Amino acid sequence: MLSQKLQDAFNTQINKELFSEYLYLSMAAYCYSQDLDGFANYFMVQTQEEHFHAMKMFNFVTDCGGKVILTPIAGPEVEFKSILEIYEKTLAHEQFITKSINELTSLAIKENDHASASFLKWFIDEQVEEEATVTKILSKLKLIKGEGQGLLMLDTELAARVFTPPATNV
Ligand code: MG
Repeated sequence: MLSQKLQDAFNTQINKELFSEYLYLSMAAYCYSQDLDGFANYFMVQTQEEHFHAMKMFNFVTDCGGKVILTPIAGPEVEFKSILEIYEKTLAHEQFITKSINELTSLAIKENDHASASFLKWFIDEQVEEEATVTKILSKLKLIKGEGQGLLMLDTELAARVFTPPATNV
């Protein structure tokens, strides 16, 4: 059984994951508008991942006998200057989510809720990967100054990304 405080915190996190889905969908739309379909594909896959994160938490709260309360999702940014800027914003957003997951885990530990702390371990590990992936792409974008032939090569590379639901799906 989740404490009220922890249930509220999980509901807030579900909103953040759904906002992430919305934000990346907006970034995909920008990439499509620039005819960079590979980058758009990257963000479409990211959108699916964020939806998966939200549903994973949705199911956990339900399994714990808690109640999921959905709240309005904020509108994402819709105007972007460049692919480089998009990835800078993506990294900043993922760092924000990491901090949020860490705080949620700290609350679970404080409340002596070991089931929640154990569940959140998957998200802690996932955030390490999320940040590493974005950091690597951002480094490449900086190397090529976010333009030219290098940008098109990276676009082709990212066109191959596919969403694979993790085997740990519950
Ligand atoms: Mg997420």
